[in-house]
Amino acid sequence: MSPGHGARLTVDLAALTANWRTLAACAPEAECGAVVKADAYGCGLAAVAPALWRAGCRTFFVAHLSEGVAARKILPEAVIYVLNGLPPGSVEAFRAYDLRPVLGDRDELLEWAAATDGASPAALHVDTGMNRLGLPVAEALALAGDPVIARAGIDLVMSHLVSAEAPDDALNARQAADFARIRAAFPGLRASLANSSGTCLAEAARHDLLRPGYSLFGGNPEPGRANPMRPVVRLEATILQVRDVAAGETCGYNARWQAPTSRRLATLSLGYADGYPRSASNSGHALVGGVACPIAGLISMDLIILDVTDAPEARRGGTATLIGDELDIDTVGRAAGTIGYEILTGLGSRYVRSYVE
Ligand SMILES: *Cc1c(COP(=O)(O)O)cnc(C)c1O
Repeated sequence: MSPGHGARLTVDLAALTANWRTLAACAPEAECGAVVKADAYGCGLAAVAPALWRAGCRTFFVAHLSEGVAARKILPEAVIYVLNGLPPGSVEAFRAYDLRPVLGDRDELLEWAAATDGASPAALHVDTGMNRLGLPVAEALALAGDPVIARAGIDLVMSHLVSAEAPDDALNARQAADFARIRAAFPGLRASLANSSGTCLAEAARHDLLRPGYSLFGGNPEPGRANPMRPVVRLEATILQVRDVAAGETCGYNARWQAPTSRRLATLSLGYADGYPRSASNSGHALVGGVACPIAGLISMDLIILDVTDAPEARRGGTATLIGDELDIDTVGRAAGTIGYEILTGLGSRYVRSYVE
């Protein structure tokens, strides 16, 4: 570990591209794209996007226009869709960077059609249950055959699943049925419905273009089942010191942990300012020499205390693994009362970052 930094984040690009290939193989009849919004789920767009391109990915999704511009500078030839749609007055920026807005309401559709007159492609987002972005199903069906669709250069219709990670949820079938009607109403267009979990659902969810994000970065698309994805992210922090405490002593702010017997504690050089969630205080754990060591007390801004009594390898200058090996991002998310997505996208900028191929 570099002595100038407290923690190291390692992103395994070979695992990332293996995950992309695994997902692509789930639906060989469809094209497998990649969602790389939020700086590629915190993993670093500048390294992630070229790796996916080299693996064969040609279609990318980001959330914002600014993310699209950043992606275009890295991927000169890729197709790039911007999920959050067309902010008022942004048509020229989209065209300058050859970005495709995912048009999510009538005003966006009309503005894009008027400005581009069929010369610049875009996607049409249809809402099948999220009530977040996208035209309602009835409104979209009413537009079938309307010349505005061609004038807006629509080449893709898409929708988004509400509960794809819960395969038994009845909403999946209802959304799939609604989306099948949309697809049938726009016969010349490509269609896209599935995120990571949707890719693992029934064939009805897959259509022409997959939009996985989380699973590319190692998240389990099928919670409750064995994770078919390879871990991509590894987070390790330096152990700054180790100390012994007697039964009854406490540690950290507000003394929220008390030693039940005499214990050994290790202090790590990583805290919530690094993006490790404070809500994992007294509930998460880290690995030292492969031994699971509970987080003791409240997580501080720059420090975490571990109970390393059972980890004989704990020593000053050693390392603790906060994400990696047996400790995956889904587990860390659960311990923090959140989801692995939030763990990934919260990954901080204070780490030394390294990328392995
Ligand atoms: C973020 C997002 C995705 C990717 O979802 P994952 O669950 O990360 O695979 C796909 N489609 C849309 C519209 C999204 O916003």
